[in-house]
Amino acid sequence: MQRVALVTGSTSGIGLGVAKQLVARGTVSHIMLNGFGDPEHALAEVRGAGLAQQVGYCDADLKTADGVEFLMKETARQFGPIDILVNNAGVQHVAPIEDFPLEQWDRVMAINCSAAFYASRLALPHMKAQKWGRIINIASVHGLVASSGKAAYVTAKHGIMGLTKTLGVECAPFGVAASAICPGWVRTPLVEAQIAARAAKSGKSIDEETELLIGEKMPSKQFVEVSELGDTVVFLCSDAARQINGSAIIMDGGWTSV
Ligand code: NAD
Repeated sequence: MQRVALVTGSTSGIGLGVAKQLVARGTVSHIMLNGFGDPEHALAEVRGAGLAQQVGYCDADLKTADGVEFLMKETARQFGPIDILVNNAGVQHVAPIEDFPLEQWDRVMAINCSAAFYASRLALPHMKAQKWGRIINIASVHGLVASSGKAAYVTAKHGIMGLTKTLGVECAPFGVAASAICPGWVRTPLVEAQIAARAAKSGKSIDEETELLIGEKMPSKQFVEVSELGDTVVFLCSDAARQINGSAIIMDGGWTSV
């Protein structure tokens, strides 16, 4: 199947895992990677995952609307218009609300929320015209519940949930489906940094803090695997998922059921 995908923030973690599964399962023929990690590593991983005809990389900064537009145009220029958009790029900053730096608030909101809106609005005309498309937003359990110290992240992720619902309502008549995925903890650089910060503060080892972190929130006491998230994205791109529109798939080991 000739399909073009863009996965934002795909040089590491969940985005890289999703890109690999999209290629490994033959869901896409062309895929654009993006993010600030090691592009050569990401390109090699995705190329090695399957038989994609072309895998590209663009270093666009999604903090601005111009950066998002550049990424969309660059993808279309190299591969053609985007059929599958995975809005995944995200950052975290942890601080109490009264100490939360304004520039961190703006940064988290821009990358974790506004970028998905900017990308979706540019992707939709082609998807609607061809009467097929998928927009998959990597949200979080923090799109459903809060955690202390994560005001910007929780607000941005709740925003993504609202965007997903609105996309669903607007897109459904055109054969285009939008979904959110809400993972619990996934062991990626974003979470490694939080574990390291906790260990530095508590004086405990990384292993002890990892066990505490996972035990506090996830009844499964296991991280979600990036390949599991990738497989869910593959499913959401399948015909079987065409009526899943505007809703969220929660993959949190029971976190939000407690
Ligand atoms: P990660 O740090 O491994 O990946 C984040 C990606 O976003 C990287 O490729 C990074 O370079 C890219 N990025 C950051 N700022 C960018 C910018 N300005 N422009 C373009 N790319 C940028 O983290 P991850 O855990 O894989 O996170 C991916 C997504 O999953 C995020 O939206 C995150 O909120 C979400 N998520 C993560 C977890 C978790 O436990 N790791 C849980 C729920 C949701």
